[in-house]
Formats: sequence, C-alpha cells, structure tokens
Amino acid sequence: MCRADSTLGTAVILADLGCELILKFGTEEQKGEYLGKVAKGDAISAAAFTEPARGSAISERLDTVAVGRGRGWVINGTKTMITNATTADFFITLCQTDAEAQPPYRGQSLFIVASHAPGIGVTKIANKMGIRASPVGEINFDDVHVRGENMIGVRNRGFYHTMDWFNESRVEVAAQAVGMAQGALDRSLVYAREREAFGRKISEFQAVSHKLAEMAMKIEAARLLVHKAAWRIDQGEADPLASSMAKALAGRVAVEVADEAVQIHGGYGYLGEYDVERICRDAKITEIYEGTREVQKNTVARFLLRS
Ligand SMILES: Cc1cc2nc3c(=O)[nH]c(=O)nc-3n(C[C@H](O)[C@H](O)[C@H](O)COP(=O)(O)OP(=O)(O)OC[C@H]3O[C@@H](n4cnc5c(N)ncnc54)[C@H](O)[C@@H]3O)c2cc1C
Repeated sequence: MCRADSTLGTAVILADLGCELILKFGTEEQKGEYLGKVAKGDAISAAAFTEPARGSAISERLDTVAVGRGRGWVINGTKTMITNATTADFFITLCQTDAEAQPPYRGQSLFIVASHAPGIGVTKIANKMGIRASPVGEINFDDVHVRGENMIGVRNRGFYHTMDWFNESRVEVAAQAVGMAQGALDRSLVYAREREAFGRKISEFQAVSHKLAEMAMKIEAARLLVHKAAWRIDQGEADPLASSMAKALAGRVAVEVADEAVQIHGGYGYLGEYDVERICRDAKITEIYEGTREVQKNTVARFLLRS
C-alpha cells in the first residue's frame, strides 16, 4: 500500500493501531466487542503511550495514572502525539497503576478507553511534516472512569505487553518504510527514462543510473531484513533484535531513497509536482514513531554486547 501511496497506505495501516494488543492479551469479550468492528472498518483505534514529558522513556513512571475505585479505575493525565486521537472510537492507553513499583514499568497497565467517555478532551495537533492523512492529537484524561473489564492483559504487566506488541508492530513500520522507498524508486525509474538533459535521457548519465542502483540495493537489503523479522513472528518466535534491525535499517533506507528520488526529479521533485516530495516528508516518520532510530540501535547494541 505504501508503495502505491505513502500517505494513504500509512493511514489505512494505522487505522487499527494497537488492536493486536487486544488480539494477543485481551479477553474473548474484548475481542468480540472491538476487533470485529475495526476489521470491518466500522471503528478506528488509537494506541496512547507517549506523554508530553516522555516518548522514548515510557519505562519511567508515567504521568498518566489509573487509580482503582470500586470495581473500576479512574484515569488522569495527558497523552500526546497520538495517531487517530481525533477520529478513534477507543484509545488503548498505558497508565501507571502502581506508583510505588520499582522499576516503574512493573507498575503499568493497559486500558481500553472509549473516546466519548466523560472527562476525555482531545486537541488536534496541526501542521505536521508528513503522513497528513493520519490525524495526530493530544488526549487529556480528567477523572475518566473505566470498568475493570477494560483492562487489557495482566494488571501491572502493561509495559511488557506493550514491548511484546512493539516487537511485531515495528516490523509493520519497517514494511511501511520499504513500501515508501520502493514507491520512490518506481517513480524515479519512470522519470529518469523520460526526462532529457543535454540531448540525452538523464538515465544515461552514470551519476543518475548509479543512484538508481544504490536505491535498489538498499531497498532489497531492507526488504530481506523485514522478511526475516516477519518470518520470525510467523514462526511464533518474535525476535526483538531482528525487529529493531529491520525498523532502523528500513527507516533509514526510506529517508535516503526518498531524498535521492527528489534529487533525480530535480526542481520538479522539490516543487511537489511529482509524488516524491510527499514520500520524502512521509518517510521520516518511520524513523521516529514506535521507537526512534536511536532506540532501535540501543536494542541492537544491547543484544550484541550481551553475547
Ligand atoms: C506523527 C506522529 C505520530 C505518532 N503516533 C503515536 C501514537 O499513535 N502513539 C504514541 O504513543 N506515540 C505516538 N507518537 C510519538 C512517538 O512515538 C514519539 O515521538 C517517539 O517515541 C519519540 O519520543 P519523543 O518525541 O518524546 O522524543 P524523545 O524521547 O524526547 O527523544 C528525542 C531524541 O532523543 C533521542 N533519545 C531519547 N532517548 C534516547 C536513548 N536512551 N538513547 C539514545 N537516544 C535517545 C531520540 O532518539 C530522539 O532523537 C507519534 C509521533 C508522531 C510525530
């Protein structure tokens, strides 16, 4: 999908964000209530981890707190940069449920929160660089009541469930990146064969054809790594090392390839007459959300130095 259209492809892929958490750790009731609607396109989900004070560092004590009251919970706090915040029917939200837990991530839990629940306030964040078909916003929780049945998985294991999910979702982001890069190469090949300069097709200049070759080689390497990480998941052996390698490499490749695609398109590429300008803006997010490039490298380095 992202090969054909980086913006729409991303929007479609992100429409069910976080639902795998329900699929993997949810109750049969939760699966019945939410997953069918999302699969049919009758509902949109959001996954809320990031807070104003922490994005990479969600293992720290969260400012979004859920306190037990009766048979349910009351949530207070703010999540920011949340995809689909303004359109989602429900937010899968990571909260601190044990303020004393050491380390703090041992005291976090996941909840399904209806987006229309009393106490929810959503503010759209405008003017982002790319993926502009996917809205992003801030969610404020002000004494929001949720039923005990809305907890996903095991109490105080929310961080572990989230990391488990990231091992798979990061491969999905890596696949977005490969698609975007391939789309940029496809368009560059067409343009290089058509555009003429100094009486020749620009593809006949070695400086251009070598760019195309470099782009293709990088994409192929990233694709194979994504396939390896996805294959591990299919085997039931999700591999954080492979997932982080795939996301870090594919994201970088998408950014580099999209940049070269603009270069091959010359001024027209920069003006936005061709899709490559948009791909260039869209690609950058794959190095940021669901764990930045640096966070992925931390994981890779940890594995390398452990063995
Ligand atoms: C368009 C968009 C959509 C998003 N959608 C969602 C969503 O749906 N749900 C959600 O929860 N979040 C979402 N996010 C938030 C995103 O996941 C965070 O922006 C990201 O995790 C980085 O967090 P941060 O912005 O707080 O940056 P920071 O964590 O403050 O990082 C700033 C810089 O420091 C580096 N850094 C931080 N810690 C380390 C470290 N330990 N080692 C090395 N370098 C480090 C980072 O790599 C980065 O370069 C979205 C963001 C954007 C822009």
